[in-house]
Amino acid sequence: MISEKAPAKINLTLDVLQKRPDGYHEVEMIMTTVDLADRIWLKPLDRGITIRSSERYVPNDKRNLAWQAADLLRKTCHISHGVEITLDKNIPVAAGLAGGSSDAAATLRGLNRLWNLGLTLDELAELGAQIGSDIPFCVYGGTAIASGRGEQIRHLPAPPNCWVLLAKPAISVSTADIYGGLDVSAIRHPDTAGMMAALETADYGAMCRQLGNALEPVTMQLHPQVAVLKEQMLKFGADAVLMSGSGPTVFGFVQHESQVARVYNGLKGFCPEVYAVRMMGERIHLA
Ligand code: ATP
Repeated sequence: MISEKAPAKINLTLDVLQKRPDGYHEVEMIMTTVDLADRIWLKPLDRGITIRSSERYVPNDKRNLAWQAADLLRKTCHISHGVEITLDKNIPVAAGLAGGSSDAAATLRGLNRLWNLGLTLDELAELGAQIGSDIPFCVYGGTAIASGRGEQIRHLPAPPNCWVLLAKPAISVSTADIYGGLDVSAIRHPDTAGMMAALETADYGAMCRQLGNALEPVTMQLHPQVAVLKEQMLKFGADAVLMSGSGPTVFGFVQHESQVARVYNGLKGFCPEVYAVRMMGERIHLA
């Protein structure tokens, strides 16, 4: 049996450039991995793919992205034996943190090892793109700008180190609903180039100033508690705050360790799920 870590991501920026004729949105997003992670366990089976999960809201059949990743790899590489996939979920579900995509990416990396396939990360990312557009980024982890549907990846320097406070209100958000409610002509675009420059120069203040997410107003309109959470996080002392992905999770940066407990305890008072984690920043390498 082998295991693989599946870290969550946050969006430092998320921009929507246009709606494509195929119905997908053309996006540009800078993402980075944080040390809040699921752990997946892979156990060889004679045949078939089974899924077990510690979280009852996660599907345990072919709707699970980890199941789809295993199935695709099996078919592509003509593997006849099976696998039991156990998901120890720590990443909140439907939260804007790419939990499912990261489980699928970790399944690809792990099965590559378990089945001795010898595929590169680039090849695994290409396979992952067939299942979901956040999966290629999750295959590599670290920090990157994703464009196209999200599947074209360019690696970037790790952000300046800081604490990341994550707070998920007790609501779930469907990514499709948020994109559906987006008026592309009315978007306030984040400064993606400015964020890239902040990362290149490891400028913490500039990174904080350049945070931006084009989906945030849409989710906030539907769920006003997201705006309240952002305000509270700033009030308790976070340096900068933003909603991740399509939400509803809000994250805040805190540079000084002495401030972390204050923000964490303040949020814990009224938000059920709060985490204080570190950036991971660096890319994942094949074991
Ligand atoms: P993203 O940020 O990529 O939009 P998310 O964090 O908002 O993703 P996920 O946690 O990946 O959302 O889950 C979204 C939906 O996908 C869930 O409601 C669930 O039904 C389904 N799903 C499929 N596989 C998984 C998985 N391994 N873990 C969690 N959810 C999964």
